[in-house]
Amino acid sequence: MKYVDEFRDGDLARGLAARIAAEVRPDRRYAFMEFCGGHTHAISRYGIAELLPPAIRMIHGPGCPVCVLPIGRIDQAIGMALERNAIVCTYGDTMRVPASSQLSLMKAKARGGDIRMVYSGADALKIARANPQREVVFFAIGFETTTPPTALVILQAEKEELANFSVLCCHVLTPSAITHILESEEVRKFGTVPIDGFVGPAHVSIVIGSGPYEHFADEYRKPVVIAGFEPLDVMQAILMLVRQVNDGRAEVENQFARAVTREGNRAAQAAVQQVFELRERFEWRGLGEVPYSALKIRSAFATFDAERRFGLHYTPVPDHKACECGAILRGVKHPRDCKLFGNVCTPENPVGSCMVSSEGACAAHYAYGRFR
Ligand code: SF4
Repeated sequence: MKYVDEFRDGDLARGLAARIAAEVRPDRRYAFMEFCGGHTHAISRYGIAELLPPAIRMIHGPGCPVCVLPIGRIDQAIGMALERNAIVCTYGDTMRVPASSQLSLMKAKARGGDIRMVYSGADALKIARANPQREVVFFAIGFETTTPPTALVILQAEKEELANFSVLCCHVLTPSAITHILESEEVRKFGTVPIDGFVGPAHVSIVIGSGPYEHFADEYRKPVVIAGFEPLDVMQAILMLVRQVNDGRAEVENQFARAVTREGNRAAQAAVQQVFELRERFEWRGLGEVPYSALKIRSAFATFDAERRFGLHYTPVPDHKACECGAILRGVKHPRDCKLFGNVCTPENPVGSCMVSSEGACAAHYAYGRFR
């Protein structure tokens, strides 16, 4: 398949691995965080960690939208279905994330909640049109990749004057999470090894561009290499990071030049800007409350904001006591550090959010058996 097969070539991967091994300095170790769950998945699936020299350690970051969704937000969506009799629509993975009271959206559906899996917000709009007598709530989650489509469905709902449609908005922002990581002492250090640089997200960067990462290179002196999701993309990005570290450079480089520009997608950014504004505080699973790290719906579109429409209040809920998702999402623990991994907690019976989506670190390690 064009643009896929050539980025999975085994000979080229071995060549890149040899190049990386030749260029790592014998007197230092390297720790790079792949922010995005898509990269975590690629690293596990293609055995990239095993191809790297022992001097390089890859640290999983918090860039999995399902993983960072706090329990309190899922509880809100469940409450909409079970207590307010709304039709709640959301993406498939979101339905399986454990909430409080041993519930998930899937289990709430089994208890009679009208909860429907959709592939997009547009599907939720269709359901709203077909059920004018019912409240229909789209439980919208995700990073900058999924935010523009949510903005567009709100604009469309306004155009159609849909009176029964609203959005429970849980969209979060990548640069704020990276800032939080860089500002946190616990997170900056992985054991005794500081994070030397970041593999930057692919799809998010198509929307926001590479420009927003320049702050991290300039202010924090951390190299960022934006990379595609294929194995050769990730390996090339690691080589580029090694070279930056060796040269003492801290720059934003774009390995994913076939899709990412410095400016990003201006039309998508304009739609987001029109519909959403920054939230002052938003809780992330694992990171806690992160200032200005999420979006809320502007008051001009209040009628489509489920939080306003139903007077919802947010209550934080702690994770399962034995679940290490929080520490894994902060980059300070590994799935193998969790006592529940692979025995009590499996993809069929996830205890924490990192075991739900294929982008979650625990699910990726469980599926591909990579433990390095
Ligand atoms: Fe949480 Fe399960 Fe991962 Fe343990 S294995 S950290 S319980 S998701």
